Amino acid sequence: MRHAMSVDVEDWFQVGAFEKVIDKAAWPTLASRVERNTDGVLALFAESGVKATFFTLGWVAARYPAVIRRIVEQGHELASHGWDHDRVFTMTPEHFRADIARARSALEDAGGVAITGYRAPSFSIDARTPWAHAVLADEGYRYSSSIAPLRHDHYGWPEAPRYAFRPLVDSMLVEVPVTVAEWGGRRMATGGGFFRLFPAAVTDYAVRQVDAARQPAVFYFHPWEIDPGQPRVDHAPLRSRLRHYSRLGAMAGKLRGLLERHEWGRMDHIVGGLERVPVGMVAA
Ligand SMILES: [Zn+2]
Repeated sequence: MRHAMSVDVEDWFQVGAFEKVIDKAAWPTLASRVERNTDGVLALFAESGVKATFFTLGWVAARYPAVIRRIVEQGHELASHGWDHDRVFTMTPEHFRADIARARSALEDAGGVAITGYRAPSFSIDARTPWAHAVLADEGYRYSSSIAPLRHDHYGWPEAPRYAFRPLVDSMLVEVPVTVAEWGGRRMATGGGFFRLFPAAVTDYAVRQVDAARQPAVFYFHPWEIDPGQPRVDHAPLRSRLRHYSRLGAMAGKLRGLLERHEWGRMDHIVGGLERVPVGMVAA
């Protein structure tokens, strides 16, 4: 069984944790590190021979098309992370449709490939957005990886299925939730900041658990997580700073180990290989 390796491509100042302290209007004035950090991620993948999916903001693609081309040229999947990280549950269906259309056109212009995958910013498809998958299907997406089926302070839909499902009866669109570990009846996160802060053995345990259920695991992280030299946002809440800045220096080494210990691939290839994906109804 091959598992899905994914990267959410956004700059250090575009993360959800800083949205209240960094105004979007200031983004163009901040020192961007997304290009160099994405190149660092590409180098890690090249070392281990892993192909992955890069869920990328349209905002980033419009400004840094060269790195978008490098992602595609190196055999990875280019997919959408929306335009500028607005969370889906803050939008109307019309606003969401416009957001993903704008992102897709920037990504397709930069990458020269068709975009068929989507990941909501901060896993923000949940019980508040029962229309979101229908909009994605209508816009021609084949899959989404936009649900975190757990309880978390910033996100999560604990009642959602843990594994790949079809959220719509009249469409083949597949939702592949991000991987959680189940431990004593509780679901725990395994990617991103969780992987950075906790022992890698916890994520390994989750991947083996998912593997035993004959399902693909979905791992994710961000380019800024391998960048200890990024500017510090001193006025963000302490909790956000602790999460964002801890163990950045150790991340690349931890990722190297994770890339070696399991078999990884692109989301589109993994979704294409799924058999009999069940229709999953989620109680809103
Ligand atoms: Zn994101």
